[in-house]
Amino acid sequence: MKRRRFLSAAMATISSWLVRRRVLAGELNNSSGGSSCSAGSTEDATQHESNSLEQVTYLRKVPVRYAADVVVLGGGIAGVSAACAAARSGASVILVERFAITGGDLTSGGVANFCGQLHGQGEVFDRILQDLHKFKAIDAKRPVVQYEILAIVLQEMLLRHGVKLLLHTRFVDARTRNQRLTECIVCGKSGPEAIRARQFIDCTGDGDVARAAGFDIMKGRPADGLQLPMSLMFFVRHVEANEAFPQLPDDWFVPIRRRTDLPMTSIWPDGPRSNALKIKIPKFDATDTESLTRAEIRARRRMMEVLDYYQRIEHKPWRLDHASPIIGIREGCRISGDYVLTVDDLRAGRNFDDAVARGTFYLDGHKPDDDKRTYILKKSEMQVPPYQIPLRSLCAKDGRNLMMAGRCFSADQLALSSARVSTTCSMMGQAAGIAAAMSVQNNCDPRDLEAAKVRRVVEQRGA
Ligand SMILES: Cc1cc2nc3c(=O)[nH]c(=O)nc-3n(C[C@H](O)[C@H](O)[C@H](O)COP(=O)(O)OP(=O)(O)OC[C@H]3O[C@@H](n4cnc5c(N)ncnc54)[C@H](O)[C@@H]3O)c2cc1C
Repeated sequence: MKRRRFLSAAMATISSWLVRRRVLAGELNNSSGGSSCSAGSTEDATQHESNSLEQVTYLRKVPVRYAADVVVLGGGIAGVSAACAAARSGASVILVERFAITGGDLTSGGVANFCGQLHGQGEVFDRILQDLHKFKAIDAKRPVVQYEILAIVLQEMLLRHGVKLLLHTRFVDARTRNQRLTECIVCGKSGPEAIRARQFIDCTGDGDVARAAGFDIMKGRPADGLQLPMSLMFFVRHVEANEAFPQLPDDWFVPIRRRTDLPMTSIWPDGPRSNALKIKIPKFDATDTESLTRAEIRARRRMMEVLDYYQRIEHKPWRLDHASPIIGIREGCRISGDYVLTVDDLRAGRNFDDAVARGTFYLDGHKPDDDKRTYILKKSEMQVPPYQIPLRSLCAKDGRNLMMAGRCFSADQLALSSARVSTTCSMMGQAAGIAAAMSVQNNCDPRDLEAAKVRRVVEQRGA
């Protein structure tokens, strides 16, 4: 037994050494490390590379350290809402989040702004608003929030609901039997561990759980797989004119000299003597390790180029304060559900028998293939009436006990361009949490629940 283990460890070491040598020799990987790249072609190349790579089998026993009725993977607004709602229904709940704080795009991504209708999103969102007001951390005129405080509000709400929170813990893999997830493998600072649960909710935004389980997913636009573009948020502090100077050294990056050469840049007030800036970074794939790495590199270079333009050409008395630690991701992977919500459903304001959530925002489809202020639709085509989201769009079609909420729910790209806003993600999360807890109580799969009963609870809880 010992000998076999030694031999397989030795084989794995030799294989990984061979792979490493080939990577270093540039045989396996042509990462450009440079500026923009086509996600369409990146995706093709990555597929091709992974298919042709030598493979190793990696076996390891891990302790089943935790067990719960419901495990929520990913602690963005959808995940927090799902976890709190499931716990409120009496389920024992664990929330797994890879960063130090919850809130996802809204906090770690620096978005700090709520779009869509604020009221009637459900008691979880209502409570978030109330607590932000108590901290005076939400602007009186526009729903811009102080995201460091939002992170505290979310964390305290989870703890009040009795949710077991695992931070700095990444979902890594899923174990399945008969299309049912049995455990998920997570890795925090204690190393890899398993969590056993009866219901799982994928709120990673990128469908990480569904992808690991081998379930069907959708990504990008049908023609070429390009996803809605990412954007980096960064923040500047206002300084006295005599303290203002350009920060980009002369021979670094590609300075911008004309306003028309700027990427789409949005600028907002961000509290006293501060501005938030958002720059568009298109054509990268948020679900591909190398592409996401290149996106982050590109984004931070662009940030310095844009900052330099405002400091040097427009003479803004600004100093870089900080950039979000992660680029904002609008679209990763969407999980194929029992129903795929379409843009036509939104346009028609279609009603569903199993509706459990509602969206109210316009079709905000930023064009995926350039970095200017361009949109997939004409302005006149963007408005939609309030629309419903069915329970079937929150149930993974290939999994019996996997639900999803937030920006990885089952929708086409244009439907997502509206439903991805924070208010709708929260309402979807609340519905998924309620349904998961009801499935535990009724010992059934979420798709077998009586949708009208789920909706009744959703409505009782203020949505
Ligand atoms: C640039 C930009 C601007 C936006 N502007 C607005 C706006 O003004 N108003 C508005 O309402 N909405 C806006 N949105 C949309 C909105 O912020 C997001 O779509 C929404 O917050 C998504 O919530 P979510 O919970 O589905 O996903 P996310 O916020 O992405 O949360 C996913 C969470 O899962 C965690 N996670 C991911 N993978 C793993 C893993 N493997 N293991 C453990 N944890 C994991 C992440 O760390 C994150 O916390 C904007 C989005 C972007 C990108």
